[in-house]
Parts: sequence; structure tokens; C-alpha cells
Amino acid sequence: MSSWKTLLLNLYYHGSRPYRRRRDRRAAAEGRVPVVVLFYHRVADDGCGSWTHSNADFARQIDWLARRFDLVSLEEAQRRIASGHNTRPTACITFDDGYADNCHTAIPLLIKRQIPCTYFVTWHNVQSGEPFPHDVALGYEGRPNTIEQIKTMAASGIEITAHCRHHHDLGKVLDPARLVDEIVTARDELQDCIGRPVRYLALPFGQYANLTSDAFALARASGYAGLCSAYGGYNYPGNDPFHIQRIHADDLARLKNRATIDPRTAVVPRFCDTPMGVPQT
Ligand SMILES: [Zn+2]
Repeated sequence: MSSWKTLLLNLYYHGSRPYRRRRDRRAAAEGRVPVVVLFYHRVADDGCGSWTHSNADFARQIDWLARRFDLVSLEEAQRRIASGHNTRPTACITFDDGYADNCHTAIPLLIKRQIPCTYFVTWHNVQSGEPFPHDVALGYEGRPNTIEQIKTMAASGIEITAHCRHHHDLGKVLDPARLVDEIVTARDELQDCIGRPVRYLALPFGQYANLTSDAFALARASGYAGLCSAYGGYNYPGNDPFHIQRIHADDLARLKNRATIDPRTAVVPRFCDTPMGVPQT
């Protein structure tokens, strides 16, 4: 992001802080503090790809978040959403895809600080070692995690979870058998590999067009505890805790604005997993 955009975003954040504080106090008094669930992809210092954070940026973001939020597991986040009453600033850290570089510094940092983390892996890429198709299309090849890495993370308290078998757009998958393979069979294989339950699912890309009521229904029926989208939005107390809306962490200036309840993020329509599958306000 250009430096003048960063400057403007920082000015906007600091200029609107009194308003944000007033609104936060009101939300806390009413028990309506939303749960912010963030997602990262890759943390490395090679600058490859727009989804990569440097190690220093990631550490700064975690420092900033840890000073302002209860950093909790997805399970605790769901409990606060389901209770219908939340008075605490609450955030969760998640990762998507499963990049090997995350195990060098970012994941050890979270483990050392005992910050819960949910880590969604695309099972085919972990098994095969093949780079992700969206990276190949952009001309670089961030390596996926190895099986050894995900076992080590799981043993260290990182919650390993499912990002389907392939990193494909399931919004275009109409074949029920293929949907079962992507969502259920791949999850079962991942569970067998790490020897632990795989409780959560994030659909690849996670935008409205990539979500379907069939995928939600299958995830619910096959025993997942929750499904994460990635189009933005907050999770308010009283929302359906099964569907967890997530916000991309991006750079620190954007993160500060989004995580402290930006009006633009507050009005993101919530995907409704009815057969119509249309966004709902
Ligand atoms: Zn992904």
C-alpha cells in the first residue's frame, strides 16, 4: 500500500478514536460487542504475493491486538457469539491454506505467547507438496506445510482444521460426491493423519460466490463445529455461531480500522445458508 494511503488510514483511525471509544462503551454496556475473527495466509520476509506479511509486521499486529483484545480460540468465540451477550473486545487469529514459512517465526511466536490459533490447511497440497494454484497463476510458489509440520503444530496446541482437499472454488461444484470428497473425506483423512478431531471448515476464497447452501448443509450434517467465510464482517452476539465471518488482517493501518469496528465493515451483509443462499442484512 502506498505511504500516503497508510497516512490517510492512520489519520482516519486516530481522528475517529473518540467516536469509536464512545461506541465501544455503549456496545459493552448493551452486551453487543462483536467478535472479530481475522485471517492471515503467509508470514515470510521475501515479499512474495499480496497475501504475505513480513515477520516484523506480523509481530507488530499481534502486539497491537494483544493489548486491546481477548485473543481467544474459535470455540470460545462461538461461545461468546452464542451467549447473545458479550462485553469484552474479542478477537481470534486464523490462518488459511497452510504455508511452510509460517512455521519459521509466526507460529512459534503464537505458541510462545500462548495465543490460540486456528490453522486451515488444504489437504492435497500438504500431502503432495504442490504449490497452490492461485500462487502459480501469479508466478510464485510459496511452499505448503509438510505433514510433519502440521503434526508438530497440532501437538503444540495449534488447532489444525480443514480448507478442503483442493483449493478450488466450491461455489462452482455441483456434483454432490465431489462436495463430500472436498469437505468430508478430506477432513477425515486429515484427522487420521494428526490423530485429533478436525472441527472447523473454511471454504476456499470464502467470498459470497464461493459459498453455497449445499456446502453449509453438508458441513453441519457431517459434524463440523463451524464454518468460516472470508468476505469480511463482524460476528455479533446472537448471530448463528456456526457461520463465523472473518476479516483479512491486511496491513496494520487497515487492521486497526477494521478491528475497532469500522462502519464500512459493520454493514457487510451476512451470507444466509438457506437454499436461496442470498446475502442477508
Ligand atoms: Zn485459501
